[in-house]
Amino acid sequence: MSHIFPRHTKSNLPTVDHGKGVYLFDTEGKCYLDGSGGAAVSCLGHGDQDVIEAIKQQLDAVPFAHTSFFTSKPAEALADKLIAHAPEGLDRVYFVSGGSEAVESAIKLARQYFLEIGQPQRRHIIARRQSYHGNTLGALATGGNLWRREPFAPLMIDTSHISPCYEYRDRKEDESAFDYGQRVANELEDEILRVGAENVMAFFAEPVVGATAGALPPVEGYFKRIREICDQYGILLVLDEVMCGMGRTGTLFACEQDGIAPDILTTAKGLGAGYQPIGAMICTDTIYKAIEDGTGFFQHGHTYIGHPTAAAGALAVLTKLTDGGLVKRAAETGTKLRAALDDAFGTHPYVGDIRGRGMFLGIEFVEDKESKKPFDPALATAKHLKKAAFEAGLICYPMSGTIDGKFGDHILLAPPFIYEDAHIEELVGKLKIAMDKVLP
Ligand code: PMP
Repeated sequence: MSHIFPRHTKSNLPTVDHGKGVYLFDTEGKCYLDGSGGAAVSCLGHGDQDVIEAIKQQLDAVPFAHTSFFTSKPAEALADKLIAHAPEGLDRVYFVSGGSEAVESAIKLARQYFLEIGQPQRRHIIARRQSYHGNTLGALATGGNLWRREPFAPLMIDTSHISPCYEYRDRKEDESAFDYGQRVANELEDEILRVGAENVMAFFAEPVVGATAGALPPVEGYFKRIREICDQYGILLVLDEVMCGMGRTGTLFACEQDGIAPDILTTAKGLGAGYQPIGAMICTDTIYKAIEDGTGFFQHGHTYIGHPTAAAGALAVLTKLTDGGLVKRAAETGTKLRAALDDAFGTHPYVGDIRGRGMFLGIEFVEDKESKKPFDPALATAKHLKKAAFEAGLICYPMSGTIDGKFGDHILLAPPFIYEDAHIEELVGKLKIAMDKVLP
């Protein structure tokens, strides 16, 4: 019997033994191709000696020193490097230990900002129904995933949700992609007017949606319109790049491809690449200065903020992503992976949509391609695909759920950026074995 609490499946999971490159091995010696980096975490693959060496050196120097007494060389260098590459206007970094903490920090920073500038009534958050922002209570209240939220309602934060930008399901036949994007973006304005602009604090969105929709990118122009609306009503735009950031979509920050910058950005998974647990919240100088000139400090904190060893690992990761050219490689390899998926499954009778950006790709499965009718939820298609793929030696991340009354089965592919052509071939081959086994 396992005494570990979060063992949420009753099935006996294998015990991981070691990892090498793009493969994980269990204690029975079985080898698995990593096709999802856990959930978009392991962007460098497993056993990267440069990152391991940087962590070891920091452990030898000093593993931890509390940020109320010291700053540290790796945390300062990591902040400098992140800001040097961040979208225009983002100037200050706050380090945490993961994605939910980054989102939670963003919620509190937005709240404190409006308190500092004398607009205390602004506390309402608008987000999207197809979204996941984390499992702590503020992040959970912000996300739109009903299945996760409902057991814990009522949640502490005032939130409401607008439509996602989900072209495959929601664009009308006579509508261009651009017009569709403007229409759904304009829902933000309607919601702001309904709540009262003076009450709204922030709009939260993932540039490319991960955990609820299998790598769902926005259409062109969508985020530009969102940015305009936020500016018009004095609302902060918070982009959650916990999953889609750090090169995953082929640019270091996903929002670069949408031609906008947020007021606050959250990032995590790929920042530590699985070598260390670390996240970050990055904000504009305007927000930082309002707090510095007001209360003088951000009224928040965790024991492990700015953890030196986590920062040393992340600095080595970020150096590989930027100076080492791995973001560029993610863009190039992602194009090849996408082409291979289109080739193998584009005309498959049960594949409704293949989508995403860079090394962040999703497949949506449907019972009827023509009408886009989903599979019966009782069939648990995504779950069975994950299991069959795992048996075939491929790790991919399944997702299913009901959003706006529409059920969907998806799988997310988010492999390490170091994939070679042979790994793409192996992934497609193993996925095909799983699909042949599970789909009718
Ligand atoms: N935001 C997004 C977009 C995520 O995908 C996730 C995790 N899947 C989180 C926040 C929460 O991150 P964590 O699990 O590290 O708390």
